[in-house]
Amino acid sequence: MMESRTTISIPSLVRIKSRALEKLGIYCKRSEFPSVAVISSSDIPADIMSSAKESLASANVQTSLWFNCVEASFEQAQSIFVSLPGDVSAIIGIGGGRALDVAKYVAFLARLPSIALPTSLSNDGFCSPNASLSIGDRKRSLPAAMPFGVIIDTDICLAAPEHLWFSGVGDLVAKLTAVRDWKLAFHATGEPFNDFAALLSDATVSQFISRPVKDLEGVRLLGTSLMLNGIAMEVCNSSRPASGSEHLISHALDRICTRPRLHGLQVGVATYVVSRLQGYQSDIISRLFGECGFWNAIKSDPFSRSEWLEAARLAPSIKNGFYTVLSSRDCVDEIHSILEDDAVLTDCFVP
Ligand SMILES: [Zn+2]
Repeated sequence: MMESRTTISIPSLVRIKSRALEKLGIYCKRSEFPSVAVISSSDIPADIMSSAKESLASANVQTSLWFNCVEASFEQAQSIFVSLPGDVSAIIGIGGGRALDVAKYVAFLARLPSIALPTSLSNDGFCSPNASLSIGDRKRSLPAAMPFGVIIDTDICLAAPEHLWFSGVGDLVAKLTAVRDWKLAFHATGEPFNDFAALLSDATVSQFISRPVKDLEGVRLLGTSLMLNGIAMEVCNSSRPASGSEHLISHALDRICTRPRLHGLQVGVATYVVSRLQGYQSDIISRLFGECGFWNAIKSDPFSRSEWLEAARLAPSIKNGFYTVLSSRDCVDEIHSILEDDAVLTDCFVP
Protein backbone atom coordinates (compact mmCIF):
# COMPACT_ATOMS: atom_id res chain seq x y z
CA MET A 1 0.00 0.00 0.00
CA MET A 2 1.22 3.52 -0.73
CA GLU A 3 2.25 5.94 1.95
CA SER A 4 2.52 9.64 1.39
CA ARG A 5 6.12 10.67 1.18
CA THR A 6 7.71 14.04 1.59
CA THR A 7 10.93 13.48 -0.32
CA ILE A 8 11.49 11.61 -3.53
CA SER A 9 14.98 10.44 -4.10
CA ILE A 10 16.30 10.25 -7.64
CA PRO A 11 19.79 9.51 -8.97
CA SER A 12 21.96 12.63 -9.08
CA LEU A 13 24.49 11.14 -11.47
CA VAL A 14 23.13 9.61 -14.68
CA ARG A 15 25.31 8.65 -17.63
CA ILE A 16 23.82 6.48 -20.37
CA LYS A 17 26.29 6.50 -23.20
CA SER A 18 28.98 4.79 -25.16
CA ARG A 19 32.22 4.06 -23.24
CA ALA A 20 30.87 5.40 -19.95
CA LEU A 21 32.84 2.78 -17.98
CA GLU A 22 36.12 4.44 -18.94
CA LYS A 23 34.99 7.51 -17.05
CA LEU A 24 33.90 5.74 -13.85
CA GLY A 25 36.90 7.17 -11.98
CA ILE A 26 36.24 10.71 -13.17
CA TYR A 27 32.56 10.46 -12.18
CA CYS A 28 33.56 9.27 -8.68
CA LYS A 29 36.10 12.02 -8.32
CA ARG A 30 33.65 14.72 -9.40
CA SER A 31 31.09 13.33 -6.96
CA GLU A 32 33.74 13.59 -4.22
CA PHE A 33 34.11 9.90 -3.53
CA PRO A 34 37.86 9.54 -2.83
CA SER A 35 37.54 5.93 -1.72
CA VAL A 36 35.04 3.33 -2.86
CA ALA A 37 34.05 -0.29 -2.35
CA VAL A 38 33.28 -2.22 -5.53
CA ILE A 39 30.95 -5.21 -5.59
CA SER A 40 31.08 -6.98 -8.94
CA SER A 41 29.30 -10.05 -10.29
CA SER A 42 31.67 -12.99 -10.42
CA ASP A 43 30.78 -13.74 -14.04
CA ILE A 44 31.46 -10.42 -15.76
CA PRO A 45 34.15 -10.44 -18.46
CA ALA A 46 37.73 -9.76 -17.30
CA ASP A 47 38.14 -6.75 -19.60
CA ILE A 48 35.23 -4.95 -17.90
CA MET A 49 36.83 -5.54 -14.50
CA SER A 50 40.24 -4.30 -15.64
CA SER A 51 38.75 -1.28 -17.35
CA ALA A 52 36.88 -0.32 -14.14
CA LYS A 53 40.05 -0.79 -12.06
CA GLU A 54 42.12 1.27 -14.47
CA SER A 55 39.56 4.06 -14.60
CA LEU A 56 39.34 4.35 -10.80
CA ALA A 57 43.12 4.22 -10.40
CA SER A 58 43.81 6.83 -13.05
CA ALA A 59 41.45 9.27 -11.32
CA ASN A 60 43.17 8.54 -7.97
CA VAL A 61 40.03 7.01 -6.52
CA GLN A 62 41.08 4.43 -3.98
CA THR A 63 39.41 1.03 -4.03
CA SER A 64 39.25 0.04 -0.36
CA LEU A 65 37.40 -3.19 -1.03
CA TRP A 66 36.70 -5.21 -4.15
CA PHE A 67 34.25 -8.00 -3.61
CA ASN A 68 33.39 -10.70 -6.13
CA CYS A 69 29.75 -11.47 -5.61
CA VAL A 70 28.46 -14.98 -6.30
CA GLU A 71 24.97 -14.80 -4.83
CA ALA A 72 22.34 -12.12 -4.28
CA SER A 73 21.55 -12.95 -0.69
CA PHE A 74 20.82 -10.94 2.43
CA GLU A 75 23.52 -12.94 4.21
CA GLN A 76 26.09 -11.94 1.58
CA ALA A 77 25.16 -8.26 1.87
CA GLN A 78 25.34 -8.43 5.64
CA SER A 79 28.82 -9.99 5.65
CA ILE A 80 30.15 -7.37 3.20
CA PHE A 81 28.64 -4.62 5.36
CA VAL A 82 30.43 -5.96 8.44
CA SER A 83 33.80 -6.03 6.66
CA LEU A 84 33.42 -2.61 5.05
CA PRO A 85 36.50 -0.41 5.67
CA GLY A 86 35.73 2.82 7.53
CA ASP A 87 37.04 5.15 4.82
CA VAL A 88 34.60 4.07 2.09
CA SER A 89 32.54 6.97 0.74
CA ALA A 90 30.45 5.11 -1.86
CA ILE A 91 29.55 1.59 -2.96
CA ILE A 92 29.75 0.68 -6.63
CA GLY A 93 27.89 -2.32 -8.05
CA ILE A 94 29.10 -3.68 -11.39
CA GLY A 95 27.40 -6.55 -13.19
CA GLY A 96 24.01 -8.09 -13.82
CA GLY A 97 21.27 -8.17 -11.20
CA ARG A 98 23.19 -9.94 -8.43
CA ALA A 99 25.99 -7.50 -7.68
CA LEU A 100 23.74 -4.49 -8.16
CA ASP A 101 21.18 -5.69 -5.63
CA VAL A 102 23.86 -6.60 -3.11
CA ALA A 103 25.69 -3.27 -3.61
CA LYS A 104 22.43 -1.36 -3.23
CA TYR A 105 21.63 -3.16 0.00
CA VAL A 106 25.14 -2.85 1.48
CA ALA A 107 24.98 0.90 0.75
CA PHE A 108 21.59 1.08 2.42
CA LEU A 109 22.87 -0.70 5.56
CA ALA A 110 25.94 1.57 5.67
CA ARG A 111 23.94 4.72 4.85
CA LEU A 112 26.28 5.36 1.92
CA PRO A 113 25.52 6.42 -1.65
CA SER A 114 25.58 3.66 -4.27
CA ILE A 115 26.39 3.68 -7.95
CA ALA A 116 24.85 1.07 -10.26
CA LEU A 117 26.80 0.09 -13.33
CA PRO A 118 24.73 -2.60 -15.08
CA THR A 119 26.58 -4.70 -17.63
CA SER A 120 23.29 -5.86 -19.15
CA LEU A 121 19.72 -4.55 -19.11
CA SER A 122 17.87 -7.73 -18.22
CA ASN A 123 15.45 -6.11 -15.72
CA ASP A 124 14.50 -2.83 -14.07
CA GLY A 125 16.27 -3.57 -10.78
CA PHE A 126 19.33 -1.37 -11.34
CA CYS A 127 17.44 1.80 -10.55
CA SER A 128 14.76 0.96 -8.02
CA PRO A 129 14.32 1.69 -4.33
CA ASN A 130 14.31 -2.07 -3.54
CA ALA A 131 16.91 -4.82 -3.45
CA SER A 132 15.91 -8.28 -4.60
CA LEU A 133 17.77 -10.67 -2.30
CA SER A 134 17.26 -14.19 -1.03
CA ILE A 135 16.88 -14.82 2.68
CA GLY A 136 17.37 -18.49 3.36
CA ASP A 137 15.87 -20.03 0.22
CA ARG A 138 13.16 -17.42 -0.33
CA LYS A 139 13.55 -14.48 -2.69
CA ARG A 140 12.46 -11.18 -1.18
CA SER A 141 12.24 -7.59 -2.31
CA LEU A 142 13.75 -5.58 0.53
CA PRO A 143 13.34 -1.84 0.96
CA ALA A 144 16.63 -0.06 0.20
CA ALA A 145 17.59 3.35 -1.17
CA MET A 146 17.59 4.62 -4.73
CA PRO A 147 21.12 4.61 -6.19
CA PHE A 148 22.97 7.93 -6.15
CA GLY A 149 24.33 7.16 -9.60
CA VAL A 150 23.37 5.13 -12.65
CA ILE A 151 26.09 4.57 -15.24
CA ILE A 152 25.10 2.58 -18.31
CA ASP A 153 27.88 1.89 -20.78
CA THR A 154 25.84 1.24 -23.92
CA ASP A 155 28.68 -0.61 -25.69
CA ILE A 156 28.94 -3.08 -22.82
CA CYS A 157 25.17 -3.67 -22.60
CA LEU A 158 24.95 -4.08 -26.38
CA ALA A 159 27.64 -6.78 -26.28
CA ALA A 160 25.82 -8.71 -23.50
CA PRO A 161 24.14 -12.01 -24.49
CA GLU A 162 20.95 -11.52 -26.50
CA HIS A 163 18.58 -13.31 -24.07
CA LEU A 164 19.44 -10.65 -21.45
CA TRP A 165 18.29 -7.95 -23.88
CA PHE A 166 14.99 -9.77 -24.49
CA SER A 167 14.54 -10.16 -20.75
CA GLY A 168 14.88 -6.37 -20.35
CA VAL A 169 12.35 -5.80 -23.14
CA GLY A 170 9.91 -8.19 -21.41
CA ASP A 171 10.32 -6.47 -18.05
CA LEU A 172 9.74 -3.07 -19.67
CA VAL A 173 6.62 -4.05 -21.61
CA ALA A 174 5.17 -5.46 -18.37
CA LYS A 175 4.56 -1.87 -17.31
CA LEU A 176 1.54 -1.75 -19.63
CA THR A 177 -0.34 -4.51 -17.83
CA ALA A 178 0.97 -3.39 -14.43
CA VAL A 179 -0.56 0.07 -14.83
CA ARG A 180 -3.80 -1.49 -16.08
CA ASP A 181 -3.95 -3.74 -12.98
CA TRP A 182 -3.34 -0.68 -10.82
CA LYS A 183 -6.33 1.07 -12.43
CA LEU A 184 -8.46 -2.04 -11.86
CA ALA A 185 -7.38 -2.02 -8.20
CA PHE A 186 -8.30 1.64 -7.89
CA HIS A 187 -11.81 0.94 -9.18
CA ALA A 188 -12.31 -2.30 -7.25
CA THR A 189 -10.76 -1.47 -3.89
CA GLY A 190 -10.10 2.27 -3.87
CA GLU A 191 -6.33 1.76 -3.78
CA PRO A 192 -4.80 5.19 -4.46
CA PHE A 193 -3.70 5.70 -8.05
CA ASN A 194 -0.87 8.09 -8.79
CA ASP A 195 -1.48 9.75 -12.17
CA PHE A 196 2.04 11.03 -12.58
CA ALA A 197 3.72 7.71 -11.79
CA ALA A 198 1.37 5.88 -14.15
CA LEU A 199 1.96 8.42 -16.91
CA LEU A 200 5.72 8.16 -16.49
CA SER A 201 5.50 4.39 -16.59
CA ASP A 202 3.37 4.36 -19.75
CA ALA A 203 5.58 6.94 -21.43
CA THR A 204 8.71 4.86 -20.93
CA VAL A 205 7.20 1.95 -22.82
CA SER A 206 5.91 4.17 -25.64
CA GLN A 207 9.37 5.64 -26.07
CA PHE A 208 10.86 2.19 -26.56
CA ILE A 209 8.02 0.90 -28.76
CA SER A 210 8.72 3.67 -31.25
CA ARG A 211 12.16 2.15 -31.93
CA PRO A 212 12.57 -1.42 -30.64
CA VAL A 213 15.94 -2.07 -32.25
CA LYS A 214 18.95 -3.71 -30.62
CA ASP A 215 21.73 -1.25 -31.36
CA LEU A 216 23.52 1.47 -29.37
CA GLU A 217 20.55 3.83 -29.63
CA GLY A 218 18.12 1.01 -28.72
CA VAL A 219 20.21 0.16 -25.66
CA ARG A 220 20.16 3.82 -24.68
CA LEU A 221 16.36 3.90 -25.01
CA LEU A 222 15.83 0.64 -23.11
CA GLY A 223 18.23 1.71 -20.34
CA THR A 224 16.56 5.11 -20.02
CA SER A 225 13.08 3.57 -20.01
CA LEU A 226 13.92 0.97 -17.35
CA MET A 227 15.57 3.66 -15.24
CA LEU A 228 12.60 6.04 -15.46
CA ASN A 229 10.39 3.19 -14.42
CA GLY A 230 12.36 2.86 -11.22
CA ILE A 231 11.72 6.56 -10.67
CA ALA A 232 7.99 6.00 -11.22
CA MET A 233 8.06 3.47 -8.34
CA GLU A 234 9.89 5.96 -6.16
CA VAL A 235 7.39 8.73 -7.00
CA CYS A 236 4.46 6.78 -5.60
CA ASN A 237 6.39 4.65 -3.10
CA SER A 238 4.92 1.51 -4.60
CA SER A 239 5.89 -1.16 -7.12
CA ARG A 240 2.51 -0.69 -8.83
CA PRO A 241 3.79 1.23 -11.91
CA ALA A 242 6.25 -1.58 -12.68
CA SER A 243 4.70 -4.77 -11.47
CA GLY A 244 1.24 -6.31 -11.65
CA SER A 245 -0.28 -9.74 -12.24
CA GLU A 246 2.30 -10.57 -14.94
CA HIS A 247 4.91 -10.39 -12.16
CA LEU A 248 2.78 -12.56 -9.86
CA ILE A 249 2.76 -15.26 -12.56
CA SER A 250 6.53 -14.97 -12.94
CA HIS A 251 7.07 -15.20 -9.15
CA ALA A 252 4.85 -18.29 -9.12
CA LEU A 253 6.91 -19.80 -11.96
CA ASP A 254 10.09 -19.15 -9.95
CA ARG A 255 8.61 -21.23 -7.14
CA ILE A 256 7.32 -24.21 -9.10
CA CYS A 257 9.35 -24.57 -12.31
CA THR A 258 11.99 -27.23 -12.57
CA ARG A 259 13.99 -24.69 -14.60
CA PRO A 260 12.83 -21.10 -14.08
CA ARG A 261 13.86 -18.79 -16.94
CA LEU A 262 15.11 -15.25 -16.89
CA HIS A 263 12.79 -12.86 -15.07
CA GLY A 264 11.95 -10.71 -18.09
CA LEU A 265 11.35 -13.66 -20.42
CA GLN A 266 8.73 -15.06 -18.03
CA VAL A 267 7.31 -11.63 -17.32
CA GLY A 268 7.14 -10.70 -21.01
CA VAL A 269 5.09 -13.75 -22.00
CA ALA A 270 2.91 -13.31 -18.90
CA THR A 271 2.36 -9.68 -19.95
CA TYR A 272 0.84 -10.82 -23.23
CA VAL A 273 -1.33 -13.43 -21.48
CA VAL A 274 -2.50 -10.90 -18.88
CA SER A 275 -3.22 -8.31 -21.58
CA ARG A 276 -5.63 -10.86 -23.08
CA LEU A 277 -7.36 -11.24 -19.68
CA GLN A 278 -7.51 -7.48 -19.31
CA GLY A 279 -8.77 -7.13 -22.90
CA TYR A 280 -6.35 -4.29 -23.41
CA GLN A 281 -3.32 -3.58 -25.62
CA SER A 282 -2.70 -7.22 -26.65
CA ASP A 283 -2.14 -6.15 -30.26
CA ILE A 284 0.49 -3.58 -29.34
CA ILE A 285 2.32 -6.11 -27.18
CA SER A 286 2.23 -8.97 -29.70
CA ARG A 287 3.37 -6.70 -32.52
CA LEU A 288 6.25 -5.26 -30.50
CA PHE A 289 7.43 -8.73 -29.46
CA GLY A 290 7.21 -9.87 -33.08
CA GLU A 291 9.14 -6.87 -34.39
CA CYS A 292 11.99 -7.08 -31.92
CA GLY A 293 12.42 -10.89 -32.06
CA PHE A 294 11.15 -11.63 -28.54
CA TRP A 295 8.73 -14.35 -29.69
CA ASN A 296 11.48 -16.13 -31.62
CA ALA A 297 13.68 -16.08 -28.54
CA ILE A 298 10.87 -17.75 -26.54
CA LYS A 299 10.19 -20.31 -29.29
CA SER A 300 13.84 -21.35 -29.28
CA ASP A 301 13.36 -22.59 -25.70
CA PRO A 302 9.61 -23.01 -25.10
CA PHE A 303 7.91 -22.98 -21.71
CA SER A 304 5.96 -25.84 -20.17
CA ARG A 305 2.20 -25.30 -20.44
CA SER A 306 1.44 -27.45 -17.41
CA GLU A 307 3.87 -25.45 -15.26
CA TRP A 308 2.28 -22.22 -16.44
CA LEU A 309 -1.17 -23.48 -15.52
CA GLU A 310 0.04 -24.40 -12.07
CA ALA A 311 1.60 -20.92 -11.81
CA ALA A 312 -1.70 -19.36 -12.91
CA ARG A 313 -3.45 -21.17 -10.04
CA LEU A 314 -0.84 -20.05 -7.51
CA ALA A 315 -0.33 -16.46 -8.73
CA PRO A 316 -3.36 -14.71 -7.11
CA SER A 317 -2.21 -15.84 -3.65
CA ILE A 318 1.42 -14.73 -4.03
CA LYS A 319 0.93 -11.23 -2.65
CA ASN A 320 -1.66 -10.57 0.02
CA GLY A 321 -4.09 -7.73 -0.57
CA PHE A 322 -2.69 -7.01 -4.04
CA TYR A 323 -5.66 -6.64 -6.37
CA THR A 324 -5.10 -7.45 -10.05
CA VAL A 325 -7.11 -8.82 -12.94
CA LEU A 326 -6.42 -12.26 -11.41
CA SER A 327 -8.45 -11.19 -8.35
CA SER A 328 -11.42 -10.07 -10.43
CA ARG A 329 -12.44 -13.66 -11.34
CA ASP A 330 -11.05 -17.16 -11.56
CA CYS A 331 -8.85 -16.84 -14.65
CA VAL A 332 -7.35 -20.34 -14.81
CA ASP A 333 -9.67 -21.67 -17.54
CA GLU A 334 -9.23 -18.52 -19.63
CA ILE A 335 -5.44 -18.78 -19.29
CA HIS A 336 -5.67 -22.45 -20.28
CA SER A 337 -7.42 -21.60 -23.55
CA ILE A 338 -5.10 -18.66 -24.27
CA LEU A 339 -2.05 -20.91 -23.88
CA GLU A 340 -3.62 -23.61 -26.09
CA ASP A 341 -5.36 -21.62 -28.79
CA ASP A 342 -3.86 -18.15 -29.17
CA ALA A 343 -2.03 -18.11 -32.53
CA VAL A 344 0.44 -15.52 -31.22
CA LEU A 345 1.72 -18.08 -28.71
CA THR A 346 2.17 -20.92 -31.23
CA ASP A 347 5.38 -22.82 -30.44
CA CYS A 348 5.99 -20.77 -27.26
CA PHE A 349 4.75 -23.71 -25.16
CA VAL A 350 5.23 -27.45 -25.06
CA PRO A 351 2.75 -29.62 -23.10
ZN1 LIG B 1 10.35 -7.06 -13.19
